[in-house]
Amino acid sequence: MAAVSEADAEATGIVGEFLSLKAETDADFLVMQVGDFYEFFGEDAETVADLLDLKVSQKSSHGSNYPMAGVPVDKLTPHLKQLVERGYRVAIADQYETDDGHAREITRVVTPGTLLETTDADAQYLAAVVRVSPERYGLGVADVTTGRFLVTEVTGEDADAATDRVFTELYRFDPAEVLPGPEVRNDDAFLDRIRERTDATLTLHQADAFAPGRATHETKAQFGQETLASVGLDDTAGASRRNENPQVQAAGALLSYVEETGTGVKASMTRLQSYEGDDHVSLDATTQRNLELTETMQGDRDGSLFDTIDHTVTSPGKRLLKEWLQRPRQDLPTLRRRGDGVAAFADSALARETVRETLDGAYDLERLASKAAHGSADARDLLRVRETLALLPEVADAVASDPTLSESPLAEIVTRPDREAAAALRDELDALADDPPGTVTEGGLFRRGYDDELDEIIDRHEEAEEWLATLDDREKRKTGIGHLQVDRNKTDGYYIQVGNSETGKVPDRYDRLKSLKNSERYTTDELDERERQIFRLEERRGELEYELFGDLREGVAERADLLQSVGRALAELDALASLAVHAVENDWVRPELTESGDLRIDAGRHPVVERTTEFVPNDLRMDGARASSSSDRTASSSAPATSPSDRESAAGRDGERRFLVVTGPNMSGKSTYMRQAALITLLAQIGSFVPADAAEVGVVDGIYTRVGALDELAQGRSTFMVEMQELSNILHSATEDSLVILDEVGRGTATYDGISIAWAATEYLANQVGSKTLFATHYHELTSLADRLPGVQNVHIAADESDGDVTFLRTVEDGPTNRSYGIHVADLAGVPEPVVERSRDVLRRLREDEAIDVRGGQSGDGGGQRGGESDPQQVVFDLGSGQFRGGDDAGGDGAGGSDDAGSVDVESVDTQSVDPETEAVAEAVKDTDLSDTSPIELMNRVQEWQERLRE
Ligand code: ADP
Repeated sequence: MAAVSEADAEATGIVGEFLSLKAETDADFLVMQVGDFYEFFGEDAETVADLLDLKVSQKSSHGSNYPMAGVPVDKLTPHLKQLVERGYRVAIADQYETDDGHAREITRVVTPGTLLETTDADAQYLAAVVRVSPERYGLGVADVTTGRFLVTEVTGEDADAATDRVFTELYRFDPAEVLPGPEVRNDDAFLDRIRERTDATLTLHQADAFAPGRATHETKAQFGQETLASVGLDDTAGASRRNENPQVQAAGALLSYVEETGTGVKASMTRLQSYEGDDHVSLDATTQRNLELTETMQGDRDGSLFDTIDHTVTSPGKRLLKEWLQRPRQDLPTLRRRGDGVAAFADSALARETVRETLDGAYDLERLASKAAHGSADARDLLRVRETLALLPEVADAVASDPTLSESPLAEIVTRPDREAAAALRDELDALADDPPGTVTEGGLFRRGYDDELDEIIDRHEEAEEWLATLDDREKRKTGIGHLQVDRNKTDGYYIQVGNSETGKVPDRYDRLKSLKNSERYTTDELDERERQIFRLEERRGELEYELFGDLREGVAERADLLQSVGRALAELDALASLAVHAVENDWVRPELTESGDLRIDAGRHPVVERTTEFVPNDLRMDGARASSSSDRTASSSAPATSPSDRESAAGRDGERRFLVVTGPNMSGKSTYMRQAALITLLAQIGSFVPADAAEVGVVDGIYTRVGALDELAQGRSTFMVEMQELSNILHSATEDSLVILDEVGRGTATYDGISIAWAATEYLANQVGSKTLFATHYHELTSLADRLPGVQNVHIAADESDGDVTFLRTVEDGPTNRSYGIHVADLAGVPEPVVERSRDVLRRLREDEAIDVRGGQSGDGGGQRGGESDPQQVVFDLGSGQFRGGDDAGGDGAGGSDDAGSVDVESVDTQSVDPETEAVAEAVKDTDLSDTSPIELMNRVQEWQERLRE
């Protein structure tokens, strides 16, 4: 609230009224109607003028000047939208007539979550979050523009898990505004996370509204006792007696906020849906971003998965398809029903196109229902309702008359809405004229035959108009005046106009109204009488039609649920037809959905990349945990380690593929291959066809990704910290039924650190979690894990090398990549031969499971001579434990990995008989902290050292 200065306090008149209204609201701005304008005053005027590029003028009030900025009444909406979309809350004070003049009061507070004037096809959610214990939350979301109202309960094993899930849900709805409940609003970390992770405006709605008693009352009053019971919210024996059902608390807060902001759309909120978070596939914020579901990593909508597959023809269809994409399901019957619908549409091109063409004429019934409830729908809006309702039987016919469609679940979709009720409402709306005006106060809204009184008014009006229309002829005849015409304008009303040359013929019964340059205007008693009659009739007609229209609109608002169910059915058809169109145009196949968890893809493609690239298809085969006994995996809870028993069990499950280590050169297609697996799974779990020749998709309970440190780096976030947070989240959340995609874990830190973390994470995922995992790495060392861990296998992206050129074949083959292209690249870049040779040597040893010696100060010997037994400074990478160790315990029993694995002891390098330059280099080698040096940098330094030594 803007501070009211002393001068303000004394302000009277308009400004004073503004300031006192402003003091009533905690909105960021107040805009007040003054006649035909909406005005901002004082500070608000200056800020808003700046934001909206308005002109500021000065309003003087009792000796003081106040800045003032305004917009005409009919231009408020676009300005309002701009303010609200920037996250501001704007209170509107309307002017209304009273017996002695007029008064003003705040009628609405428009906020990002309650903006009705949106034209965006996307849903616009207002969310409320309630915490009843650290592990238990209630979440409610409502879309005032469509009347959608959803609640869910979110729980977790511990506080962190519960919070993570709340954010997963929130991110999925991408709310425009969040109302944090009393418990979370003092939790700064929680609020910060909302601010950082969503674009939502945070609004502190009154705490009382969240109180269990009041919230239960509100919710019951809105949806009825039965609805509460039917969605399992009215547990009279349990929760509600203790008065703590977080879903109801969230719902109650939303309702009271919608009421308080004066949106007036509660009537369109007809259905409370409680959804089970468990049925949905967990897709956290990072994963949605990494998989570029609705926008690319760069934040563009173009090039996202949604943009690629969306062929819907209506806004509600678009909204629904996006919702499906953001909320994939595990529920096989639902998915199979959708799949059947897509398949039917895919098979019947002709009927599909008929349905789509028909749907093309459909308007957004959910939004129209909300407008009707709010009272802002005009006759054209109701006409749109009528036209859209009329499409239902057309679409139903198209479905019924096609043998394939009529046998599919599509038939159920079109028969789901109450068609009789829809037809009845349509008939009622037949009252509307075919081309009504955009205003509802001036008549012309209705057809004849709707209302007797109206018809009579119209008859008499027409009769009077007819009389007027023929008046000039009659008068010409009576008076013999040739240049005579009858007309009407605002100031003079009806008049008879006579050219100057003939004013002499004007009879006595004409009363002169005014003289113009070339003519005179007259009226007569009879004309006056007719005029009064016409005005009376017009006024009465306007009033009566406005009244009738109000009733009609209310009738529509009362049937919001009908409009929503018709709208929903049309949207479903649109979304399913859209999936069919994409499938047919791109040769996608219907996946077989199973409970086994197995993932088998023949000739799979990346759904987005295949649109722009000559794509090389790839196979993928992964086994789900559900297919095999998993007791040994789930029972173990100790720290991860590659124990002998693990190795035995790995041997026991030979050939099982649950964890694929994906290797291959940079840019060879590793990320694409892994994302393709995730996207095919996700598409299958929205009911879509998938880009492959054949696919079996075992449903997953969640998809988790950790991809691309580079993007984070560009955003200036601490790369390694973010990487580890994301990894931690995955290790906590993924289950054996999840699909995990890891792209280069551990890259953000020094090599030894990185390998160690990647190694340990792999062990943990393979042993403890048991998820299906695809893990791309440039740490070749990790490929040896395949021999040691259950279900871990290597695959690589093939490349062909000839004449020193590497060609990426993009095909995926079993086994680790057979050469390091990193060394190849180093060679091409001119890294001295000894270094390249030595790299190959180290690599060979790593692969052959041999300890690597760290070599002393010899140089320039072509790398042929390795440190002998007496060499005291060996550092060994032990593949058994995945640890680097100093020479002393090299080749030991795998226990006791050293903490300072990254620091190589070069203290005893023999420097006695060397020249100062060599000594300096040796010093530099000694001072190099390996744990803090990237491989590239190391390579550069080695090169520099070698050059110095050669000199
Ligand atoms: P990596 O993760 O190995 O660095 P990417 O997956 O980022 O490689 O792929 C590198 C480039 O190759 C991308 O431009 C991608 O579009 C293209 N690409 C990847 N896989 C294929 C494929 N199977 N067919 C055709 N192009 C591909």
